Amino acid sequence: MLDTICLSISSKHKNRLIRVQDLKEFKIDVSFNLLYSISLELFFKFQKNKIVLTPKLNFLTKTGKKMSSIDPISKTDDILFECKPDSGCKNLCCCGINQTLTGYDILKLSRFKSMKTWDFLKKHTFAYTGKQTKIPVISLFEQPDKDNACIFLEQSCTVYEARPLSCRLYPVARGISKDKKTGKILEHFAIINEDQCTGFGKGKTMPVSEWLIDQKASDYIDANDFFMNFIIDFTSKHISLDKEQKEIFVKGCYNLDLFLDELKIKKIDFKADIKELEENPLLLFKAGISWTRNQLIKD
Ligand code: SF4
Ligand code: SF4
Repeated sequence: MLDTICLSISSKHKNRLIRVQDLKEFKIDVSFNLLYSISLELFFKFQKNKIVLTPKLNFLTKTGKKMSSIDPISKTDDILFECKPDSGCKNLCCCGINQTLTGYDILKLSRFKSMKTWDFLKKHTFAYTGKQTKIPVISLFEQPDKDNACIFLEQSCTVYEARPLSCRLYPVARGISKDKKTGKILEHFAIINEDQCTGFGKGKTMPVSEWLIDQKASDYIDANDFFMNFIIDFTSKHISLDKEQKEIFVKGCYNLDLFLDELKIKKIDFKADIKELEENPLLLFKAGISWTRNQLIKD
């Protein structure tokens, strides 16, 4: 029995992980980047109940060409990396990545585009059910005529200020695990080295901890970990959602403006300070998750 469970991985290139040759035998649900089992299978090895990152994983392109590697690093290790719109690269880091979103990503992107979450979801995303988790998953549309680039990629990212967590952290990947006994969250980091990325060796040297601050990732990390705590509890109960429950899930976890509106007209019964939720997206996101938890997990 393992003492530690792995909760999530935030890596922009999680889908390319399935092309790792050595790991072909694993059955992986790649439809959801936050799925704990992906990170458990791919990023970590359990040794005497202790999680360690595997020494090195090689990424392969569809044709089998080696294109990158992922190396474990610690939060105090230095990285030297800079990504600028004029760097002359082809933005391949934004192509073919099936960018999944948390409700917090959706809220921030919607606010950035002055849209309600229901309009944003309809215009820019598609929904499906995670193969293993069986929960609704939301991904950004891609541009099939442009190497499956993210829908927000033009010359560079058009939503840069509101980009999702994995875009912020790149080329760093972050995984978390939870000690089953103490409930303590442990962080794990890796660096993704991709040949096509021209950002390595440029900019200012800084430890990973500073990179997270530099990329303004702290509230996204807070949101991600809050969501994953819910997902791990939810999936551990092997709940199979019916149509109505899926609608509850989507409303509470992703369509948070609808959740807020129904809270205001008291269609939803949940104690919260409406003004605070209106002003603070992180609080709104957490309220939505808490409400969903109350609705779907009967302890
Ligand atoms: S949101 Fe921006 S940085 Fe992220 S994949 Fe899309 S274009 Fe790239
Ligand atoms: S420099 Fe690297 S991170 Fe920046 S857009 Fe190019 S591939 Fe992506």
